[in-house]
Amino acid sequence: MEADRWPDGACCPHCGSLDVHKMGGKTQAGMFLCKDCRDKFTVRTGTVFERSHIPLHKWLLATHLIAASKKGMSALQLSRILGITYKSAWFMTHRIREAMTPTKIDPIGGQNKGVETDETLIGGKAKNRAFAKKEPKKHTVLTMVDRDGDSHSFHIANVQADILRAAMNRAIDRKSHLMTDELASYSPLGEEYANHSTVNHSADEYVRLGGYIHINTAECRFSLMKRAVFGTHQSVSEATALPAEWDSNGTSGK
Ligand SMILES: [Zn+2]
Repeated sequence: MEADRWPDGACCPHCGSLDVHKMGGKTQAGMFLCKDCRDKFTVRTGTVFERSHIPLHKWLLATHLIAASKKGMSALQLSRILGITYKSAWFMTHRIREAMTPTKIDPIGGQNKGVETDETLIGGKAKNRAFAKKEPKKHTVLTMVDRDGDSHSFHIANVQADILRAAMNRAIDRKSHLMTDELASYSPLGEEYANHSTVNHSADEYVRLGGYIHINTAECRFSLMKRAVFGTHQSVSEATALPAEWDSNGTSGK
C-alpha cells in the first residue's frame, strides 16, 4: 500500500515534505516521522482507514467484499466473514460506502454510445404494515445506464419532463443515443440527444434493431437495486446525503 500511495517515496500528508524517516520496531511498525513538521503518520493517514484498531488486512478484505458484491454486503455478514464484532463491521461498511460516494457526477454515454433510461417505483406493500393497511407512498427512482457498466440513479419527485430533464442533463452526455420506454415525458427530452429510440413494452416489444435498442440493462440495474434493498439493507430511508446543487431541481437523493 505504501508503494501504491507513494511510488516515489513517502510524503508527509500533513505538510507535504519528502524528508521523512521510517520508524521501526514492533510498536511503531508502519509509522513515519516527518523531519519538517515533526508529526507522525502511516499509510492510513488521510484515508478512510485512519484511526482504526481494525487490522489493515481486514479493511482491505472488507473493501473488496463490499465492492465485489453486486447486491451489497450487510454488516452482519461482514462480521461473520472477517471474525469481527457487528459494531466494528457496521462502522467499516459505513466508512467504505462513504468512500465510494462520488464527489461529482460524470456524464455517461457519449458519441455512438447508447444510454438507457428507465424509472421505477420504490415503496413498501400495504400487507406488510402492522397498522393502517393503506398503500405506503411510492418513490420514483430514475436510472440511466450506459453499456460500459456505468450508471447514475436518482430519487426524483415525479416523472414530469422538467424533472427528468434536470436529472438527465447532469448525468447523460448529449451526444449519446438515448433509449427509453414510451413514457410521454421522454418525447421532448429525446430531441435534446443525438438520437432517441423507444421500445413499446405495452405492445410486448422489448428489443429492436437486432438487439441494439432495448432498456434491459436499466431494468437489470433496478432488479439488482431491489435485491440489495430486500436482501442486505432490509429498508431504506427517503433522505440521503445529496450534492447541494441538486436541491432546487426536484431531485432528492442518490
Ligand atoms: Zn510533515
